[in-house]
Amino acid sequence: MTDEQLAWDFDAMMAGGGESGNTAVPALVADEGITHLAPGSEAWIAALTPTDADAVRLDRLDVDTLNAENAARLWARVAAWVESDQIAYYIDDAPVSSDAAYDARLRCLQRLEAAFPALDNPQSPTHRVGGTFSNDFTSVRHPSRMMSLDDVFSIEELSDWYDSVIRDLDWPEGKALPMSCEVKIDGLALNLIYRNGVLEQGLTRGDGVTGEDITLNVRTIGSIPANLGGDKSDIPEFVEIRGEVFMRWDDFHELNREQEDAGRAPFANPRNAAAGSLRQKDPRITATRRLSFYAHGLGTLRWGANSAGRHDQVNDQSEAYALYEKWGVPVSPHNRTVTSFSEILAMIDYYGEHRGDIEHALDGIVVKVDDLALQRTLGATSRAPRWAIAYKYPPEEVNTELLDITVQVGRTGRVTPVAILKPVYVAGSTVARTTLHNPSEVKRKNVLIGDTVVVRKAGDVIPELVGPVLERRKGRENELREFVMPERCPSCGATLAPAKEGDKDIRCPNVESCPAQLTERVISLASRKAFDIEHLGDQSAIALTNPEENRPDSVATYAPNITEILVKPGEEPEPYEPVEGLQLPERQTPVLSSEAGLFALTAADLRDVRVWREAPIIEIHETVGANGRKKKTRKRVGGSGLWHQVPAFWTAPAPAKKLTAKQLAARAGAETTADDVAVTAYPDYDVPADAVVVRVEHKKTRAGETDVPVVVRPGENTRKMFDEMDKARHADLWRVLVALSIRRLGPPTARLIASSLGSLDAIEEASVDELTQIDGVGPEIAESVVHWFTAAKEPGDWRGETLRAWRAAGVGVAAAEKSTLPQTLAGKTVVVTGSLEGYSRDSAKEAILERGGKAAGSVSKKTDYVVVGANAGSKATKAEELGIPMLDEAQFETLLETGEV
Ligand SMILES: [Zn+2]
Repeated sequence: MTDEQLAWDFDAMMAGGGESGNTAVPALVADEGITHLAPGSEAWIAALTPTDADAVRLDRLDVDTLNAENAARLWARVAAWVESDQIAYYIDDAPVSSDAAYDARLRCLQRLEAAFPALDNPQSPTHRVGGTFSNDFTSVRHPSRMMSLDDVFSIEELSDWYDSVIRDLDWPEGKALPMSCEVKIDGLALNLIYRNGVLEQGLTRGDGVTGEDITLNVRTIGSIPANLGGDKSDIPEFVEIRGEVFMRWDDFHELNREQEDAGRAPFANPRNAAAGSLRQKDPRITATRRLSFYAHGLGTLRWGANSAGRHDQVNDQSEAYALYEKWGVPVSPHNRTVTSFSEILAMIDYYGEHRGDIEHALDGIVVKVDDLALQRTLGATSRAPRWAIAYKYPPEEVNTELLDITVQVGRTGRVTPVAILKPVYVAGSTVARTTLHNPSEVKRKNVLIGDTVVVRKAGDVIPELVGPVLERRKGRENELREFVMPERCPSCGATLAPAKEGDKDIRCPNVESCPAQLTERVISLASRKAFDIEHLGDQSAIALTNPEENRPDSVATYAPNITEILVKPGEEPEPYEPVEGLQLPERQTPVLSSEAGLFALTAADLRDVRVWREAPIIEIHETVGANGRKKKTRKRVGGSGLWHQVPAFWTAPAPAKKLTAKQLAARAGAETTADDVAVTAYPDYDVPADAVVVRVEHKKTRAGETDVPVVVRPGENTRKMFDEMDKARHADLWRVLVALSIRRLGPPTARLIASSLGSLDAIEEASVDELTQIDGVGPEIAESVVHWFTAAKEPGDWRGETLRAWRAAGVGVAAAEKSTLPQTLAGKTVVVTGSLEGYSRDSAKEAILERGGKAAGSVSKKTDYVVVGANAGSKATKAEELGIPMLDEAQFETLLETGEV
C-alpha cells in the first residue's frame, strides 16, 4: 500500500460519509513516517504523532485486529490528543489540529470503544463532543512516590545537613560535590505523566502516594506541552516530570484587578490564586487564569526501544533539566549548579536580597545533590529524601503606618481590636489589617495610632504586628494617640464587658441579635468546617443578616446611578453633586434575624435583597497592540466613595432572549407541564420557570412590533446556594454540632462527641460527666456544650428556636433515622477496648450506635458492658474493679443482636 493510496482512500471515504457537498474537506497527505512498522503493533502505536498524516493511518486501521492490550495503549494515546484538541478548540478558542484530523482521531476512539467496551468510560473524550467538561478529581496512585522536602530555618541547620551528606557519602575532603541550587517556588506540586511523549495525566501531590487527577485543567496551562518536542530518540517510553504550578506576579496582579472590577474578593497571594485555579471543576475557569509551570524533579523514567543505546539513564538532576528543556518543558531560569557550601550561601544571600525582584513568589532555596546515583545512595527517611533540603528564609518584616485601631465583633461576641494598616506587601500578600487580640495586647505591644510599625509574616501564616519603630516617633508626638476600647458594641450598641471577672477578652452580650455576631455565625455555619454550603460566603451572609452594612450616612455619597467612574490616566473624577430631592432608600429588614430561619428561606424571599456597593474609579489606558491596533485596557485605581445598591441574590432586570427556531421546535415537541406557565405567556421568549416578568417592553423591529418580557430570576450562584443548602440538611451530625457555634467546640471534638453519642437527642441530654467520659473531650468543652443546650431549653431562647427550626427542616435527624436495625442497645452504654477480629475500633462503635446504644471511651460506674479484645489495657482492669460485665467478641455479637448476654 502506498501513501498516495492512503490519502486518496481517506478523501473518498470523507466524501461518501454523508457530508453535504459544499463543505470542503482539506486533503490529508500521509508521509513516509512510520510505514516500516506493522499497523496496530506496539511500536507503531508508540511512533504515532499528532499529525494529519498519522490521523489518516488511524482511520485506515482495522481495530478488530488489535489485542486488548494494544487497544488500550492506542486508546490512551489518541484520547490524550483528542482531549487537548477539545481544550484548544472549545476552551482556548485556538484549534491546533485540522478538523479532519480531529474527526479521524475521534472516530478511532469511537471504533475502539465499540470493539473494546472496557475502554468506554464516562470521562472519555468521546462523550465531550458538545464541549462539556468537568474534572472529577479521581484519586490516582503516583507511579513513584512524590516526596516532600525537609525544611531548615537557619544556616547552622543547613550546614549540619551539608556535613551529614559529605559524611554519609564518605566524600573525599577537597573534592567538589556538585549540587543543584534552586529557588523554592511558593506554588503547588504537580506530577506530569508522559507516555511515548504524549501527556497522559496531570496529578496533584495529594499525600505523596496518591494524588488527584486534574488532567483537564493541566491541559489548559499553556507552558505544559501536550507532546514532548525535540529529537524522537530523546523521547522516553514513560516519564514522570515533577514540578511546581504557580502564578507569576504580573498575572496575579492582573487577575486581582479583574476580580475587583467584577466585584469579587481579591486573592490573598499568588499561591492561593494558583491553588484555587487548579482545583476548579470547570477547566474553562482554569484556562482564564494564566498559570505557569517549572519542572524541578524526576520520577519514574523508562527509555523504550526507540532510544536504546543512547540513554541508559539520566545521570544527574541537571542532566534531567537539560532534557526537559529539549522537550519544551519549562525549567526555572534561576537554577545554579554549585560545588561548595559557600556558593550555596551566595545563592541564599542573592535571592534573599532579590526576593521581590523575580517573576514569582519564593520562600526559600532548595539544595539537591546533583548526581542521581549519589541520591540513591543517600536514600530517604519515611517522609523526605536525605539528598535534598529546603532552606526557608526568615519571616519577612516590613514597616508601615498604623492608620487606626478599630474593633471587630466575632462569632461568639468576642470584641477584638484590629490594626488598620497602610496596605503593604509582605511575604507574598498585601496586608491591610491584622488582629491585636485584646486590649491588653495593645498595651503590651506599646503601639499608638499613627505609629510606624513593624509587620511580620512567615509563609501562609497570619500577619503579625510586632511593635512600633520608636525612633520614628520623634517630633511627631502630637500626631499619635492611644487606643481606647469602646464601651459599646460598634454593631448593636450593647454595653461591652468581660464574660467573667478577670477575663482578658471583652464581649458583646447581645448574642442573639447583634448583627455582627449573627453575620459571623452564618459565615461560620456555612464554612467548610461546618455545613459546607458553597456560595454562602461572607458577602451572602452580610446580605442575609445585615444588608445595610456600608449604607451611606447622607445623600452626599449616595449615587444610585453611578456604578463606575471612568477617567483618563492621572485624571481626577468630577466632584459629585446629588440631584435635587434625592433621598436615601428605606432601610431593609434583614431576611435572617437569627440562624433559625436559614433552612426555611426560599429564593422568592431573597428577590428584593440589595447590598451597598462602592463605585470603583477605573482608568482607561490606550495602548497599541502587537498587531498595530489600538487597544483599551481598564485599570482599577481605587474606590470613589460613592455608593449604590445592587441586587444581592437575583439578577438585574434584563430582556428575555428570543428563542431560536431550533429551540422553538424542540419546545413544541416537549409536553407542557404546570411549570411552564411563564413559557406559554411569552411563547417566543426564553423565560425560565423560576423567572419573574417585571415589565414588558414594546419594541419596533424590522420584522414588526413585538412585546419583550423583561425578567429577573435568582442568579446562578443563588440557585447553587439553595442546592447546597438542600444537601446540608443531610449533613453529618458533627457538622451540625459545629454549625451551632458552641464556644470552644471545633470539628475534631465535635466528631468525637457525634460518633460517641450518635444523635442530637443524646447530645442534648448529655451531662458534663457523660461528655468527659468520651476520650479527648475535656471539662471546659463539656461545660460549654452543656451550657449551650441548657440555655436552649429556656422558653423563647434563640438557641432552642434554632434547634427546633433546623429539626423541622430535617437537619441533624437524618443520622438517627438512618439505622433500620432493631434498637437493642437503647439506653445502654458500651465500652470497647483492645482489638477485635471482626471489627475495627470505628466499626465496633458504629455497630453500637446503629442499635441505639452509646459508645463511651472510658469506663465508669455508668458503663453497662465492656467488650474486651486482645491486648486490652487499663480499661479492662477498671471494669474488673467496678464489677462491670466483661464480654468477649462472641458475646458482643449476641449483645448487638439481642440486647442481652
Ligand atoms: Zn453587638
